[in-house]
Amino acid sequence: MGHKTTISKKGFLKPVRYAKKDLETVLELTHLMSSTLDPKEVLYFVVSKISGTIDVTRCSIVSIPYEEKRHAYVISTFEDPKIVNLRLDLKKYPEIQKALSSRKPVVIRDALKDPLLKEVRHIIAPIGIRSIVVIPIIFRNEVIGTLFLRTSKLNHNFTEREIRLCTAIANSAANSLYNAFLHEKIEGERSQFEKLAITDYLTGLYNIRYFYNRIDEEISRSQRYKLHISCLMIDIDHFKKINDNYGHRTGDIVLSEFAQLLKKHTRKSDVLARYGGEEFIVLLPQTPQEAAVSKAETIRAFIKKHKFRGIKDKKGLTVSIGISSYPPHSVRNKEDMITIADNALYKAKSTGRNRVVFGDGKILQK
Ligand code: GH3
Ligand code: MG
Ligand code: MG
Repeated sequence: MGHKTTISKKGFLKPVRYAKKDLETVLELTHLMSSTLDPKEVLYFVVSKISGTIDVTRCSIVSIPYEEKRHAYVISTFEDPKIVNLRLDLKKYPEIQKALSSRKPVVIRDALKDPLLKEVRHIIAPIGIRSIVVIPIIFRNEVIGTLFLRTSKLNHNFTEREIRLCTAIANSAANSLYNAFLHEKIEGERSQFEKLAITDYLTGLYNIRYFYNRIDEEISRSQRYKLHISCLMIDIDHFKKINDNYGHRTGDIVLSEFAQLLKKHTRKSDVLARYGGEEFIVLLPQTPQEAAVSKAETIRAFIKKHKFRGIKDKKGLTVSIGISSYPPHSVRNKEDMITIADNALYKAKSTGRNRVVFGDGKILQK
C-alpha cells in the first residue's frame, strides 16, 4: 500500500515540478525582455533558452512584416548567431502559413506523413526533419512572427508541456520582436535619408556636397602617403542646343544616360559627382597624370561614339575635359585641384571643344 502511494505522489509531483520550472523560465525571459538590451540580443536569448530546455535541432524566431505576404525573415536562430534577416519563401513553409492564418500553434508530429507538407516533402525529407512546431507571435492582434522549432530525432514528439511553454514564451517575446522590427525599420530609413542627402536627384551620382567632403580627405591622404591623385572636370559641349532642339525633358534623359556612361568608366574607388548642370567631376585617387589623361581620352572617345536615346543629330554629343594632377601640379587643397582642372577645361572649350587638356594648358588630343 505504502509503495503505491509513493508512486502516485511522484506522478502527481512531477508535473508540478515541471510547471514550476517552466514558469521560472518564462519569468526569467520576461525579466530579460523588460531590460534595456538590444531587442535582437533578447531574441537570441529566447532561442538559446528554448534550445537549452527542449531537445530541438533548430529553433528560430521568424519575423513576418505586415506588408509582406510571400516572405518571412529569420531574425534569430540558435544554431547560427550571425544569421540576420535570412529570407524564407513562404511557399516552401506551409506550416508557417498555417500558423499565420489559424493564429494557433501548428504541430507536425511526422513531417514525412503529414498531409500539410505534401508539396514540400521532397525538400524536407533529405534534411531529415521529423517534427515541427510553429507558434504564432501575436502583437496587438497581428501575427508579427513565429517561433519555429524543428527536430530530426526519430522518436521525439513535442509534448503538450513543451508547446505550452513555447506559447508562453512566444507571447512574452512579442514586444521584443516588434521592437526589433521597429529598430530595423528606423535604421533602414535613416540610411535611406543619408543616401538621399549625398545623391544628385537627376543622375543618381554623388552631389557636389559629398564631393567636397571626399576631395579634402583624399588630398590629405595623398600628401601624407605621397600618393598620386588626379581630377577630371567634364563638361558636355553645346548642351544648350540639346535642350533647344529636343526639349528640356530629353535633355534630362540625356544627362542621366551620360551619368551612367561615366559610371561605367570609373572604378569604385573613384569619386564621381555631378558638379552642376551638365558638368561632372571625377576624383581619381592613386592615379598619376598619364593614367588620368588616358582615362579622360577614353571617356571623350566613348561619348563621341555613343548614340544617345532620342538624339537624332548625326554629329552626336561631345565633351571637353580638363585635368589636374598631383604631382606635378602643386595642390594644397580642393580649391587648387578644382581650379587647375577648371582652367584646363576652359582652355579645351576655347580651343574648339571635344578635347582633353591637361592643367598647364597643353592640348593633348583631339
Ligand atoms: P559649352 O560647350 O560652352 O559647354 O556650351 P553649353 O551649351 O553646354 O554650356 P552652357 O553653360 O551655355 O549651357 C549649359 C546648358 O545646360 C544650359 C542649361 O539649360 C542646361 N542644363 C543645365 N542643367 C540641366 C538639367 O538638369 N537638365 C537639362 N535638361 N538641362 C540642363
Ligand atoms: Mg557645356
Ligand atoms: Mg557648363
